[in-house]
Amino acid sequence: MVIEYSGIVVRSVLTDKREKFYDSKGIGCYMFRMDAAEVVDATMHGSAARFINHSCEPNCYSRVIHVEGHKHIVIFALRRIHRGEELTYDYKFPIEEPAAKLPCNCGAKRCRRFLN
Ligand SMILES: [Zn+2]
Repeated sequence: MVIEYSGIVVRSVLTDKREKFYDSKGIGCYMFRMDAAEVVDATMHGSAARFINHSCEPNCYSRVIHVEGHKHIVIFALRRIHRGEELTYDYKFPIEEPAAKLPCNCGAKRCRRFLN
């Protein structure tokens, strides 16, 4: 285990409203979808896990685990990670239409070119 992606658990239906609010204030938005119903919003209150970037060839992965009846998003190491090495995981965004594609700049040899 590397770190928990902690923040405020919000219902999925509220994420658009929150994102628009953060955009209007010029605040970078950090959210992680836990499942179809819930999202962890780490924008205002969250762990440093929100700063971990995506990579198509990551050294970590994310899992939703259950602890005493509560869901947690946890980042685990995929392999030995050396001191000073950037932590990354695959965001696994759902595939979108070409117009909504987000370009990937991860720099990996086998980069998929898009995050979604
Ligand atoms: Zn990439």
